[in-house]
Amino acid sequence: MSGAAEARPKVLVARMLLPAGMELLAERCEVVEGGLDVSSERLLELAPGAVAMVADPTVAVGGELLDATGPQLQVVANFAVGHDNVDLDACRRRGIAVTNTPDVLTNATAELALALTVAAARRMSEAEASLRAGRWVGWDPGAGLGLELSGATFGVVGMGRIGRRYAELVTPLAGETLYVSRTPKPEAERDLSAVRVELAELLGRADVVSLHVPANPETTGLIGSAELRAMRTHAVLVNTARGALVDSAALARALQEGEIGAAGLDVYETEPDVPTELLQAPRCVLLPHIGSATTTARDGMARMAAENVLAVLGGSEPPNRVV
Ligand code: NAP
Repeated sequence: MSGAAEARPKVLVARMLLPAGMELLAERCEVVEGGLDVSSERLLELAPGAVAMVADPTVAVGGELLDATGPQLQVVANFAVGHDNVDLDACRRRGIAVTNTPDVLTNATAELALALTVAAARRMSEAEASLRAGRWVGWDPGAGLGLELSGATFGVVGMGRIGRRYAELVTPLAGETLYVSRTPKPEAERDLSAVRVELAELLGRADVVSLHVPANPETTGLIGSAELRAMRTHAVLVNTARGALVDSAALARALQEGEIGAAGLDVYETEPDVPTELLQAPRCVLLPHIGSATTTARDGMARMAAENVLAVLGGSEPPNRVV
């Protein structure tokens, strides 16, 4: 019997972690991985005895899982910057640290928001689908007309890390940049000439509305029927933040009825289900939650999640503490 092996702390990786993080953890810990298709019942079986858990946006970390894991659990390291999948109060009450992976995914997510902006404005999904289906019969001066972005008014909802980077990326195109944030962002106002306004004003003036706020009780349902009606009829809505921000039935209706011009979505209310009405809606680009899916970002996130676990287990302050 090896004393050293016995002393290795158990880390539960709820689903999977890329090698950049796994290798760091495996040097010092016994790592148990649930796998990509782990069920919530299986997680409850794997959890007991873990001193650290690596979760991701698909893993609901609440009282039941925390209780099953046991009182020795010290940290939940979320493999994401968003942490709406983690019950922060339940962790706080149990003295469990919660960490996330900010910054390393900012470029990737902002770039995807830019890609969705252009793809939705220029109706790329339907154009490509038509070509692939053999329906393209030649250049047509009136077909597939979209929104020109040069000189457009961009509306950034949530001027945090990703919102700011998106604003930087669109600045060369923007006629004007409006933003909504809880607190003023003097640097964005100085460097990007961004103007802070109320959401109602942004919705009424912007040609593009891009969402970058976290999902929380305050932002759930931020964009519903009334907000969609307040948008310009040619405007593009982009959501790379969280599905909970947008009422997808209302969005599908707004697209069907021409209340807004187009939408580009990376996230949905109950992933991986994509509401049928959205699948059927016109002028809508739909991606499967790939905002942070670059090698650079995902390796950085994996390393960061592992470093947060190791810091807590080593008795240090984790670099990316949320709670
Ligand atoms: P962040 O730096 O914390 O920025 C969030 C911004 O939202 C902050 O400016 C904050 O204002 C603002 N905000 C928060 N609550 C608000 C409210 N109720 N009303 C108005 N503004 C509010 O976060 P981030 O790193 O940019 O990430 C943003 C979100 O993107 C994450 O939470 C996550 O859900 C999502 N995300 C998605 C993907 C993907 O794969 N699609 C990838 C990464 C992130 P203050 O600055 O005043 O606090």
